[in-house]
Amino acid sequence: MSNYEPHECDFCPGTVEPLRADSEPIKVCGRTVLIDGLTIGKCNRCGHRYFPADIVKKAEKAALDPDQAQRTETVPVVAA
Ligand SMILES: [Zn+2]
Repeated sequence: MSNYEPHECDFCPGTVEPLRADSEPIKVCGRTVLIDGLTIGKCNRCGHRYFPADIVKKAEKAALDPDQAQRTETVPVVAA
């Protein structure tokens, strides 16, 4: 589990705090990948999620090569 240092939010005066991701969606390479059990950052005010670079890298890898992902889920999408 990687460390996540709390920092100021880029979008509001809130503080971004470490959060254990529970199927948090991240969009990479045109696909949605769910992050589960890794530490990401979440603003305690606006709720904006911050994904550390190493997690983005892992997500990109999973997006490009789904066979290498720990598991694959179908993500339902609600769109206009
Ligand atoms: Zn914020």
